[in-house]
Amino acid sequence: MASGKEAEDKALEVVTQQLAEAVAAAKCHKCGCLQQTVEALSTTDAGKGSLADQLSKAKAVFQPKKYDCLGCAICWPAIAANAFAEAFPAAGEGLDLCPTEEPEVRKGWPPLPGDHHVVRSRAPVAVCTLNSGGLAARLNELSPEGLSIAGTLHTENLGIERIIKNVIANPHLRFLILCGEDTQQAIGHLPGQTLQSLFQDGVDERQRIIGAKGKRPFLKNVTRDEIDAFLKQIELVPCIGEIDEGVIVKEIGELLKRDPGPVEHSVATKVVETVQASEQKQLKLDKAGYLVVYPDARRNLIVMEHYTNQGVLDCIIEGVTTAALYSTAIGRGFLTVLDHAAYIGAELARAENSLLTGAAYVQDKAAGEIGKQQEKSCGTSCQSTNSKEGKCGKS
Ligand code: SF4
Repeated sequence: MASGKEAEDKALEVVTQQLAEAVAAAKCHKCGCLQQTVEALSTTDAGKGSLADQLSKAKAVFQPKKYDCLGCAICWPAIAANAFAEAFPAAGEGLDLCPTEEPEVRKGWPPLPGDHHVVRSRAPVAVCTLNSGGLAARLNELSPEGLSIAGTLHTENLGIERIIKNVIANPHLRFLILCGEDTQQAIGHLPGQTLQSLFQDGVDERQRIIGAKGKRPFLKNVTRDEIDAFLKQIELVPCIGEIDEGVIVKEIGELLKRDPGPVEHSVATKVVETVQASEQKQLKLDKAGYLVVYPDARRNLIVMEHYTNQGVLDCIIEGVTTAALYSTAIGRGFLTVLDHAAYIGAELARAENSLLTGAAYVQDKAAGEIGKQQEKSCGTSCQSTNSKEGKCGKS
């Protein structure tokens, strides 16, 4: 068995080797993991002595920080930090070896950025796929009803803090499915096990997650009230190790059935405004002319005729899908007013549905009334057209 001195020397060797690996990897130069570890180790006796040379080589490659932690399966600075903390427990105890500064809050939801994707904000289920990024992507693609947001989690401190802040900013979230492969067991982040411990045992007075096996399970950028609100709001559904999206989709469906509705709590600030939609009062004419839409069932096509505002047909567009027709109309310069574009998009979708289902189709009149001034400038020719776009046959 190695003596204390031998174990320390061995650990310093590991730190030196691992930092050299990070120095050689461009991705680490702009990563908070490397920068924070190097800064923290520089404050120790070893950092001022035998590690000084390697630490200054590392500082020489620093670039402006682009991310806190990339969550790499092998993270050299993290291995270095773990080796140091094990060999020098007294010095390691007080070191901030992970980037733990508060990330910048942005407007809207989710307020904190991360490796996640929002499907629908008012659904009750969030899914954390831990280190299984592919699983999160597949769930987003499937977008099952009930799924609000899905994303990964790589760290047991910053990552969990972001989940807490993002969850309490949306009272509609009531369940969190924890699935996928837990991260970087060799490095010791273990965010999945740590998050489960948070639900099971909470935090101590230093906001260290009780029972967490991750190396640095401290929540520094959230308040005790925020942690309590998160635990009250969310029911954890532990499925660590599950990577089958079919199983997760089924679970989301089951949870949706027992959605208790939005939670009421005092800590979340209202981050997204809800606006009641109102009907359009005034119709804005499009100087580019107007469009007549109809399905041609015999040829299985959607047809769109373009007329000038003098009532002259100058182009006919035919196609199978709504997207093909509106993008062609935009390319031709036939849609220059937003109201007009929205109205035509809706009409094309109805015409496409008519082709698919056989439902009757009659082009709706565009919403809103034409103002007196626009009616005057309309002239007489267009009023005899059968377009439904506007009161006088124009949009
Ligand atoms: S997580 Fe670790 S290995 Fe990955 S870029 Fe950051 S410092 Fe490098």
